[in-house]
Amino acid sequence: MPIFSTARRYRPQRFAEVVGQDHITIALRNLLVRNQIPQSLLFCGPHGVGKTTCARLLAKALNCLNLTPEGEPCNQCQACKEFLSGKATSVFELDAASNNSVDDIRNLIEHVRYPPTRQFKVYIIDEVHMLSQAAFNAFLKTLEEPPPYAVFVLATTEKYRILPTVLSRCQIYDFRRIPIPQIVQHLLSIAQQENIQLEQRAAYVIASQSDGSLRDALTLFDRLASYTTNQTITYTTVAQILHLLDDDQLFTLSQKIFLSDTAEILTTLRNLFLQGYEPAEILRSLRRHLRLLLHAHLNPNSLKEDLPPETASRYASFAQAIEPALLLSALTLLHKYESQLRYAEDKQSILEIALLEMTVLPWLNRARTIPTTTLKTTSQPQTTSNNTPTQTKTSQKPKTTRTTKKTSTTTQPAPQRTTPPPNPQKKPTTTSANKPQKDPFQTFRELLQLQSVTGNHH
Ligand SMILES: [Zn+2]
Repeated sequence: MPIFSTARRYRPQRFAEVVGQDHITIALRNLLVRNQIPQSLLFCGPHGVGKTTCARLLAKALNCLNLTPEGEPCNQCQACKEFLSGKATSVFELDAASNNSVDDIRNLIEHVRYPPTRQFKVYIIDEVHMLSQAAFNAFLKTLEEPPPYAVFVLATTEKYRILPTVLSRCQIYDFRRIPIPQIVQHLLSIAQQENIQLEQRAAYVIASQSDGSLRDALTLFDRLASYTTNQTITYTTVAQILHLLDDDQLFTLSQKIFLSDTAEILTTLRNLFLQGYEPAEILRSLRRHLRLLLHAHLNPNSLKEDLPPETASRYASFAQAIEPALLLSALTLLHKYESQLRYAEDKQSILEIALLEMTVLPWLNRARTIPTTTLKTTSQPQTTSNNTPTQTKTSQKPKTTRTTKKTSTTTQPAPQRTTPPPNPQKKPTTTSANKPQKDPFQTFRELLQLQSVTGNHH
């Protein structure tokens, strides 16, 4: 069980170790090698993505006595050692969130005037947007004409709150959210070093929960590691501890929704409430799930990046049974209820209403609005599997679900809009051409089609 924070213990000591910010670390190293570091830098970006880490590395590298040809601090020289042991007198950190008055800035300015013991004095001002207007004004002069040994690194999560007068005096570096695969890789490597068995699926959950912030991911990892008794973090324990619905629960619940199995939906919700899940947690999990299904249609590649392979393919095949327009409506609905949920007294019934309302979304109306161009493409025998279910649904006449219509194979551009004529090639495409093996969602899809038919009647 880690005693220290992993984020601190594994804080990068070289620029090359910084995760996901190559565009910045390479630029900084180049400037260091050329000895062209500007005196005022502004690091912008979400929290926990490496702004302060890079600022400290820069401070260390600036004073390093043996900078490597790659622009990395050597971590061996006297200056580096001082830095590593936390005794460096040449770097100053000010948290502007709690030191935001004119007096704080005056103290800082006073401090800047004393010459350094090493080559540079580096001032790292975190959350710089929190400085008061007066403090900013007091700071401007120093920022504009700093003594030659002073370097200011201002860091902020809210760039838009920085005055233009400050922005214009700084070289600006925009830090990025760290992509899920990179966070996963980092977590797995740290787990290995900590002798913790971290399941890949679990790592993906941790990464997706941390919104691109490596620090959040590591903090979460610490928390989960502290719960484990056998040095193992599994997907199931992560889901349990974070109180997330796991994939199986979500697929089952969404299937019930799309099949309008109202009794089962209410029973499932009841069980989840009994297990201690908060309505907001259920809604959030479901929202994320539907979003992934929508992405499975619209942007399958992102799914491959953000999910472990087996989960991604599970989403891809499940999504085939549901048309994107319906997912979009369902998601919109959830968002609407999510804001209501916050203020509702009876949160459980709000969630029930949300899910029940999803079962009566106007299915066939939406199917009709699908552009004819979509239909055209699928009149070719080889279609992407994504289109096919949509197709079938659109083309279905009530109660004729499985019958294979014999019509001309030619594309009929216009007339397919309102009363869909029996669709050429549709059925054979889905059943035999595209899916030679057994289709795990066959029954589900048939039921969905029936559903869309009944939806037409009201
Ligand atoms: Zn050094």
